[in-house]
Formats: sequence, C-alpha cells, structure tokens
Amino acid sequence: MSKKQKKMLIRIIIGAVLMVVLYIGYRFFGEETEGDGFKLHEPFWFLLYLIPYFIVGYDILIKAFKGIINGQVFDENFLMAIATVGAIAVAFIQKNGDYTEAVAVMLFYQTGELFQSYAVRKSRKNIGALMDIRPDYANIEAEGGLEQVDPSEVSIGTIIVVQPGEKVPIDGIVREGQSSLNTVALTGESAPRDVAAGDEIISGSINLNGVLKVETTKEFGESTVSKILELVENASSRKSKSEEFISKFAKYYTPAVCFSALALAIIPPLVQWIIPGMEPQWFTWIYRALTFLVISCPCALVISIPLSFFAGIGGAGHEGILIKGSNFLEALSKTKVVVFDKTGTLTKGVFEVSGVHHNELENEEILEYAALAECASSHPISKSLQAAHGKEIDRNRVSDIDEISGEGIRARVDGKDVAAGNAKLMKRLGIEHIECHHVGTVIHMAIDGEYAGHILISDVEKEGSKEALKALKENGVNKTVMLTGDIEKVASDMASRLGVDEVVSDLLPGDKVAKVEEYLSGCGKNEKLAFVGDGINDAPVLTRADIGIAMGAMGSDAAIEAADVVLMDDDPRKIVKAIKISRKCLGIVYQNIVLALVIKFACLILGALGIANMWLAIFADVGVMVIAVLNAIRALRVKNL
Ligand code: ADP
Ligand code: MG
Repeated sequence: MSKKQKKMLIRIIIGAVLMVVLYIGYRFFGEETEGDGFKLHEPFWFLLYLIPYFIVGYDILIKAFKGIINGQVFDENFLMAIATVGAIAVAFIQKNGDYTEAVAVMLFYQTGELFQSYAVRKSRKNIGALMDIRPDYANIEAEGGLEQVDPSEVSIGTIIVVQPGEKVPIDGIVREGQSSLNTVALTGESAPRDVAAGDEIISGSINLNGVLKVETTKEFGESTVSKILELVENASSRKSKSEEFISKFAKYYTPAVCFSALALAIIPPLVQWIIPGMEPQWFTWIYRALTFLVISCPCALVISIPLSFFAGIGGAGHEGILIKGSNFLEALSKTKVVVFDKTGTLTKGVFEVSGVHHNELENEEILEYAALAECASSHPISKSLQAAHGKEIDRNRVSDIDEISGEGIRARVDGKDVAAGNAKLMKRLGIEHIECHHVGTVIHMAIDGEYAGHILISDVEKEGSKEALKALKENGVNKTVMLTGDIEKVASDMASRLGVDEVVSDLLPGDKVAKVEEYLSGCGKNEKLAFVGDGINDAPVLTRADIGIAMGAMGSDAAIEAADVVLMDDDPRKIVKAIKISRKCLGIVYQNIVLALVIKFACLILGALGIANMWLAIFADVGVMVIAVLNAIRALRVKNL
C-alpha cells in the first residue's frame, strides 16, 4: 500500500468511528428523543456530523469545486459532492438527524476508490515484475577487473562480460564461455536455453551459470530489451473501441443523469402543487433525486475496462506475446482469417543444402560464390548458404551488392558478376536456366552472365506449425492461408503437410500485399485478418493487415516495428494463445459493461420510484465496482488458456 493509500485508510477508519459514535449519540441526546435528560440542539448535531464528513470527503469536495471552476462540471466528484451536500441540507431542514447517510455515502465511495487504486497499483506492479527485464548496467573489462557502465554508453562491437545471475544488457554474440539463459520474461519459455561461443543472445535474458563474454551487435537503444520496454510502455496509449465507447458514454451519461435528477426533484412536486387538493412533497422528491445521483456514478465502467485491457496485455506479455495496444487485443478476438508467410514463420528458415546440380565448377566453389554474394543479406536463405559454406567470409572480395526482394541477389565477387536467386531473377537477367526436378527451393547461380548450375536447398517446418494451424481452426478461425515467394512445388508440398486451407506461391513482396488486400475485402465488418510474418521483405503486409503479427526472435527490427503483435519465441502456437487471451479479455470487458449497466439502470429506476434509498444506492455502486475490478484482474491469468 502506498503512503497516500494508507492515509486514506486512516481517514476512512476515523470517519467511520466518529460516524457510529454520533449515530448512537443521536439516539440518546437528539432534540426529539424520548426522556428528559440532557439534549443537544439540532444545529450542534449538524456541526458535529460535519467533522467526519469533511475528514472523509474533503478531497472530493475540493475536486468537485475545481471541476466546476475549470468548466468540467459533470464528473463523479461532482455527483458525490452534490448528493451528499444535498442529503445533509435535507436532513438539516427536516430536523431528523439523518446526517449519517451523507457521511456513509462518502465513506463507501472513498472505500471503493481506495480498493480500486490498490487493485490498479497491485496489478501494475505484477505486470511490472513480469516485465522486469530492464538491465541496470553492463560490465566491461577494465584493468584489473570489471567496470560497471550504463548500457546506453556501450558502443557496438564492445566485449561485455555477463556473470551468473545477471541480465544480458545488450544484444550480441557469445565469444567466450558457456552457459544457460533464462528467457522466461521475454518468451514465456521456461526451459533454459544453452548457449556457447558463436551463439546470438538477446538482451533481457538472465545468465544462469557460466560467465559469458559477449560482443555487442547493437546499441542499447536498438537492443531487444529497449524495443520491448518501449512497446509495453506505449501499449496503453492505443485505445480500443470499448474504451472509446466508455469515454464517450461518460461524456453524455453524466450530464444526462444530472438533468434527470433535477427534473425528478422539480417536476413531480410541481405537478402535485398544481393539482388541487394535493400537498407537494418537495423533500421526498429532492431526496429521491439525490439518491438517483449517487446511483448514477459510472465508476465501475470507467475503471474496470481499461484495467481489463491492461491486465490482458500484461498477461500476454508474460507469455512472450507482446501486444502493442488494446485496439489490437480487441481486433485479435475477432480474427477470422490468418495469413502466414512461409519462410521463417511456418518453417524454421534454416535451409540445408541437399544438392548442387548442373554445375561446371566444383560444388564448394559454387557455394563459396553464393555465400560471398549473400554475405550482406539477412534473408534466411542467405544465412543458410553462408552456414553451408562454413568458412570465414572475406567481405573485401564482394562489392556492388544488390538485393532484389523476392528474387535474389546480384553482386560482384572477385571481379565477377554473380547472380544467385530464383527463376524470376534469371529471367530478369535474360539467362537460360535449367529446371530442377527435385522438390526444394532452388537457387540458380549465374557467373558473368553464364548459367552456372543451381543449389537445391530445403527447409523444415517448425515443430508447432501443424498443431497451430489445427488449433486455429478449432478456435473460430475460418480460413488459414500460406503466402510465399517460393516455387509452387515446395509451397504445395509444405501446405499439404501442414494442413493449410489455401496456398499461393511465386509471389513477389508486392503481390503479397495485393493478395492480403483481396482477402481483406472478403472479410465482413466484424471479421479481422491477421498476417503472420518474419518481416524480412513482408513489413508492408504486416502494416496492411488488421493485425500484423511478427516473429520477434528471428524477425527483423523492421518487423517488430511494423507489427502490432510480436511473438518473442517465434512459436506459431502462440497465435492461438494470443487469440484465446484476447477472447478472455474481451469477454471480461463485456461482462463488466453488462453487469454495470443492468445494475445501474435497475437501481436508477428503483431510486426514482423511491424504493431504493441512498444506502442501497451506494452499496450498489461500490459493490458493482468491486466486482468489476476483481473480474478485470482475471484477465491477467492466461497461463493455462
Ligand atoms: P517467403 O515468401 O517464403 O518468405 P521470400 O519472398 O523472402 O520468400 O523469397 C521468395 C523467393 O525469392 C525465395 O524462395 C528465393 O527463391 C528468392 N530469394 C529471395 N531472397 C533471396 C536471396 N537473398 N538469395 C537467393 N534467393 C532469394
Ligand atoms: Mg519471408
């Protein structure tokens, strides 16, 4: 509990005790009570009751007053202030000592507020702890020991030392040492990951046992941990439709309620006054109008809906699913079509060379040309060819690199013009190529304008792909589609193995946008399309889809930037999980909206008819709020979805 909250609690306790004492005192010493002992006059009771009233509610009165001065009249503070001041005035004029009610209304309202701020603080803290990945320092080797420096001061290529128990502060490559890393805060994956020299590691993971020497490959600001924190911090600024609805609702609702209350206080007694023989009951109707105001307070909705989204996003974050805003969480719950990129998304993106055909040169030489030409690309194919080549690459031998998205690479290697890519690239260069009869991705090679054979490579599906596609269909997704720039043979083979509904192959990156637009136009108003990719040449599609989902570990920075949802561990099964989390969260939001509105309107009617008094009103208000907040916090629990 914060200091402010403790202070509030003390105020509530003192106020409650005083209220009870005065209540009992009034039974014995009130002006109109029986017996002829000591009696206190009404104005004294009024003044005495003001003490607990101000102790408990002075801040509400101040806020209401400030609101009026600033022209923002109709808020909860105003409702509470008007209702309680009114109740005290009625009690004073009627001389019935019913001041308890006004104090009690303030008391309950403040208790509700306290509970709410406590719950919000606690869940914020929980989420904060989940996302506790911010590194405080980086160790660099200095004379005779280690020096701790601010991670943002470390430049690319620095060797940093990560000791057991420390967080990896900056993305990099392990140069020395062996260890296991705990990545649970980043990916939700609880099994530690073993790393050794040569492995890439991401910041935010925790080093468990060995000492690692890491060469940084990024600056701190560009490292995974900074990107993630940025995302999480900005998530709440993107509002969902439900949240917008509530702000709009409150804007019209509160004034409407205030004017209804005014009408309730004036019209019925006026009518009674006009009708001959009827006595106008002013106080009865004023009291009903005040009760009406207390009931109308919309706090359950105003607080619980943002809190539900906040909890949902936090829970997802803990599972390694970063959702960039409540609007995307809301859209996810309506996902009907999921479009996948193939390489790196449904497949591992790690190609094995399965053959080199029709070549005049030695296999190794062809591979070397390919690896050299590909030395600067981040495409999974390039990385795989470099790995197959297996030797250190001398970048000085390569110049004039030109990557043609969806086709391949052209570069000058040792003064020769080398092209490595698919049939489209060969066609573009006017080079006859030989078709390959095997199933696999084919990299045609041309050297100085002459066809030099092709390298057959093949990729394997990710473990979770098939399961993910099946689970998506079981969870309300109507259609799954795979889009790829690869050839038809490879695409349809993979599609039938994985069980995708539709597959389109031989697509250039631009064609993918067009295809996604086609699917988008087939979607109804409440049907959303998600595109899942690794961001390597599909960033435009990620942006175009209703929900762009990127693979965070393997994906490029561009993807993480362009995407709305980032899967930290690249596991396609997490898409299903994300959808389930969103459905649960939205379910809670709707439950809260319905619960609050139904109870509110029921109480409003009862209050207007004089059946509900102010006690019931405040119980209903605080009660609904507490239930709604507790319900909202449920959105945080998503582990077993
Ligand atoms: P996907 O849709 O499977 O992610 P891309 O659009 O990235 O595939 O690439 C489509 C095709 O273009 C690849 O299958 C490959 O034939 C060719 N290609 C793309 N980039 C490269 C590259 N760097 N080197 C060789 N071939 C490439
Ligand atoms: Mg791709």
